[in-house]
Amino acid sequence: MADNDVAVYDPENIFAKMLKGEIPCHKIYEDGDTMAFLDIMPRTEGHALVITKEPAVDLFAISAQGLDKLMAVVQKLAPQIKAAVGADGVMIQQFNGEAAGQTVLHLHVHIVPIKEGVPVKPHAGDMANADELAATAEKIKAVLEG
Ligand code: 5GP
Repeated sequence: MADNDVAVYDPENIFAKMLKGEIPCHKIYEDGDTMAFLDIMPRTEGHALVITKEPAVDLFAISAQGLDKLMAVVQKLAPQIKAAVGADGVMIQQFNGEAAGQTVLHLHVHIVPIKEGVPVKPHAGDMANADELAATAEKIKAVLEG
């Protein structure tokens, strides 16, 4: 795709299917405007994605109000995820366009807890073990709901 082409939102993309409940995920949070779940190919323990319910391909396609809601949830969840997994810092990442590394064309923000001295795995690398993801999701939900 050329740089000046705008991707069309596909309502059947994988994150849209998760929002519709057609594909399972390790959900950790949901409200009227957003949903958060664990990345299936985590860069670190607790790597989560926050997505909008408003259909938008990327940061430039979302309404200002939708972006406010998304970032408010990122701001709220990130420190709690950090605490839940015992991390020392949090990397927030967001990719726009395939050239920039975006692989799922539904706006999302990565929350990647970082522990000092623990290497960060490559973006969209190895699939995690489902039991480990489930255990991490429970750990995070206990903090969020605590
Ligand atoms: P992007 O590269 O678009 O910023 O990130 C997409 C992310 O979605 C990647 O980190 C990738 O590991 C994750 N991902 C891709 N497919 C699935 C899936 O089916 N389930 C979950 N939970 N994450 C996915």
